[in-house]
Amino acid sequence: MIYDRILIRYGEISTKGKNRNKFIDRLRKNIQKSLADFPKASVKADRDRMFVLLNGEDGIRVADCLKKIFGIQSFSLAVKTEQDKEKMKDAALVLFQQVYKEGNTFKISARRADKTFELDTNGINHELGGHLLRNIPGLVVDVRNPDINLQAEVRKEGIYLSAENIVGAGGMPAGSGGKAMLMLSGGIDSPVAGHLSMKRGLEVEGVHFFSPPFTSERARQKVIDLSEKLAEVSGQFVLHIVPFTEVQQMIHKQVPENYTMTSTRRIMLQITDELRKKNGGLAIITGESVGQVASQTLESMYAINEVTSTPVLRPLVMMDKSEIMEIAQQIETHDISIRPYEDCCTVFVPASPKTKPKLEKVQRFESFFDFEPLIQKAVEETETILIKPGRNTLDVIDEDLF
Ligand code: ATP
Ligand code: MG
Repeated sequence: MIYDRILIRYGEISTKGKNRNKFIDRLRKNIQKSLADFPKASVKADRDRMFVLLNGEDGIRVADCLKKIFGIQSFSLAVKTEQDKEKMKDAALVLFQQVYKEGNTFKISARRADKTFELDTNGINHELGGHLLRNIPGLVVDVRNPDINLQAEVRKEGIYLSAENIVGAGGMPAGSGGKAMLMLSGGIDSPVAGHLSMKRGLEVEGVHFFSPPFTSERARQKVIDLSEKLAEVSGQFVLHIVPFTEVQQMIHKQVPENYTMTSTRRIMLQITDELRKKNGGLAIITGESVGQVASQTLESMYAINEVTSTPVLRPLVMMDKSEIMEIAQQIETHDISIRPYEDCCTVFVPASPKTKPKLEKVQRFESFFDFEPLIQKAVEETETILIKPGRNTLDVIDEDLF
């Protein structure tokens, strides 16, 4: 392979004005981290481009890694030559021969950032096009819809040549936004909500409610496996596991059955909010989609959301189940989510939950009992684990680290 680098184009970052350097720096660090298996490769950032210098590492494998990184709009395997007409032509021919298959059409797209170069854009197009046509029999130009678009970019420091643009993951660099707590069930929706939030640059920590012995160890493992998938995107994933049995039992004792679901959701949200405060988060993320189930009607959301003024982000709120499932397939959480293990909310689900709960009613039902100590106890007894991708080693995080 002639390629000696990968040229990375920023997406939305390039519109970030004054904060642009922070975004670029974050992206550079994320790329560096994800290329830990390629010790010779190095990452270099400038204002409108980033380069991975391969230094002998396998460009195709490095490219595979880059496809998953948020904040990259597109990238190309590229080679740099000196700013010299003949060297440019030689390198272009070698590169072209590597991607060319018989019958392919082509065009040249030249850019001249350094106006001191002896050829202008048209001149480069002609010089390179003619050189390829002379050396590859049967080659045909197609400027409208070419199979191969050979790009030549002349800059002060040299000329970059590349032959294909690979589409990146888009979004914003992971960690460039603030931290948010993802309410992570074992279902299909919440992992997708988490993934989309990471795509927008948020740092996401999971909060899972479990109710032993009503929910099993396998249900817990399912959430850990989902977290591991999310960890593949962010490098690692912090999961808070909240013991919820006592709270749920008390709700069932104190609140009329058709309002238990509403109360359960309210208290889950309060506990999540406490964990958010403790861990320096700024928002809560859920997998809710409007109208999907009883707890997700507007009336329910209104009655549930009242317990906090923290922003509750619902990335899936207007999506259909089929659209959500499609993303779940793509991000490989779907098959884990459909494993048939019970969730704390399904175990305690009332026969006919209120689809239009009244806020005043749920407030009144909850007023006869002080849930606060139970909420605090659940927060205190929450277990926090750090999940790394690709291995099933779980470290219980020492409280002192926070
Ligand atoms: P999901 O597929 O994400 O479970 P769902 O369609 O099953 O969603 P619900 O069960 O009503 O819908 O849950 C709505 C949201 O509440 C979930 O997306 C999730 O964010 C949160 N949630 C539900 N159960 C739990 C749980 N046991 N632990 C943490 N969060 C939960
Ligand atoms: Mg669910």
